[in-house]
Amino acid sequence: MTGKTKYIFVTGGVLSSLGKGLASASIGMLLESRGLNVSLIKLDPYINVDPGTMNPFQHGEVFVTDDGTETDLDLGHYERFVNVRLTADHNFTTGKIYNSVITKERRGDYLGGTVQVIPHITDEIKNSIKLRTEDVDIVIVEIGGTIGDIESLPFLEAIRQFRFDVGRENAIYIHLTFVPYIPTAGEVKTKPTQHSVKELRSIGIQPDILLCRTGRFLSDDIKAKIALFCNLSQDAVFTAKDVDCIYEVPLIYHQEGLDQKILEQLNVWTGSPHLDAWRALMDKVKHPAATVKIAVVGKYTDLTESYKSLNEALFHGSVANDANLDLMFVDSSTIHTQKDAAMLGDADGILVPGGFGSRGVEGKILAIQYAREHAIPFLGICLGMQLAVVEFARHVAGIKTAHSSEFDQDAADPVIYLMREWFDEKTQTVERRDADSEKGGTMRLGAYPCKLVDKDSRAWKAYRTENIFERHRHRYEFNNGYLKKLEDRGLRFTGLSPKEDLVEIVEITDHPWFLGCQFHPEFKSRPLEPHPLFREFIRAALFKKDN
Ligand code: GLN
Repeated sequence: MTGKTKYIFVTGGVLSSLGKGLASASIGMLLESRGLNVSLIKLDPYINVDPGTMNPFQHGEVFVTDDGTETDLDLGHYERFVNVRLTADHNFTTGKIYNSVITKERRGDYLGGTVQVIPHITDEIKNSIKLRTEDVDIVIVEIGGTIGDIESLPFLEAIRQFRFDVGRENAIYIHLTFVPYIPTAGEVKTKPTQHSVKELRSIGIQPDILLCRTGRFLSDDIKAKIALFCNLSQDAVFTAKDVDCIYEVPLIYHQEGLDQKILEQLNVWTGSPHLDAWRALMDKVKHPAATVKIAVVGKYTDLTESYKSLNEALFHGSVANDANLDLMFVDSSTIHTQKDAAMLGDADGILVPGGFGSRGVEGKILAIQYAREHAIPFLGICLGMQLAVVEFARHVAGIKTAHSSEFDQDAADPVIYLMREWFDEKTQTVERRDADSEKGGTMRLGAYPCKLVDKDSRAWKAYRTENIFERHRHRYEFNNGYLKKLEDRGLRFTGLSPKEDLVEIVEITDHPWFLGCQFHPEFKSRPLEPHPLFREFIRAALFKKDN
């Protein structure tokens, strides 16, 4: 498509957690499958300038983009469903918008005028939405929060004005609502939806399409009733039916005719969508040949949202191997001895994910020791890789006082430490840290190159190429002062930064599959392009199970 960029605004009503992110991503996937160039933006009403410092218990995972932005986990959904690579310009919080307006005010950009929510904040929001629209046919803008929240008002006002600015057929509003089934009444209830749309209309936004989240397909009668009360036509009311697997959502939407309706309303003409690969994927999901049991040993174990991308990447790796994924979450703070770790003996593979803070660290080390000594396939990510190094140093290389200086600043043998000086591939400068920046020192964030230096390694066998780019989010690094000693005892350093001063991947060969990476491969895994490390880790886990 050439010509004007079209906009789809997605809002949510009634209650939170209805899956607006997934709905937006699924719409994006369907439009992309019709040959359109799609991008997505998330507007978040909270005041934090970015979600980097937010507690994953409350907020879920921090997703990291190639350009090193710490973003909302919904951007992870976007990248998994649509072929986009998102940046800092695809996620705006209230904090970020105000920050930018206040900076301009301090600089004198408003020439002493009174700075107000309307027009200054709303203009800033509108300009943010337009920042990255070059070569994009469709921009899907998801507004976080629920209609009725005080916080989201400036965003809603901005998108109300937006349609005025770009013209009716260049922007539409899709509202995701909830239609509960009440068993005692034996029927679904439309009142919450009516109220939510009423609220939306009271601020000047008439939704063009309603997506009704519910457990069963809505009858024509119910759709007609919703349409009548919400002031739209019946064929603009769609069922967003609950599904077992999130990758089924776009297929259900398509079956309902949602993508066709959106295009009609935006006056865009395309061919029919190419959904064969996606359908084949769902077929594989529904007919697995085996089950693979993976133990994830981490800290926030009871909240799967905080490891969202990780869970998805494990799922992609399992589907690629025709396996059903059975995830077992283990809170590492409950592991105090090798005997405790024996509960992991049930698992076909053990994974220690990224993390911060000292809680449960020794438990993770015990879990890694268990995986190493019992030949259970192991994948260590970021902190998981660092602790694999500590475990190896302590128990194989005999360096009993080995630790990461993150957990023991005075460790006699800091095999993982804060580097004082290194070459930053992104900025192409030498970065320095002094002792004072010990705590708040800057993180290595975003995509960095890594060179696979050993063609005989598991890493090479997975990627089958020399130069890779993977995303980082950490402060501590492997201490090269211990490289020789650990190498002599059998630890292999199979991935290095191009200047060879940073260790990116470690492996043990005398083991069915044992690999730790300093980066987070889970951020780049996609259902149709499972990440090679997850694919190979799951393959090894299935192999162990069969033997
Ligand atoms: N806490 C470790 C560091 O900062 C690891 C971080 C992570 O796992 N993402 O280096």
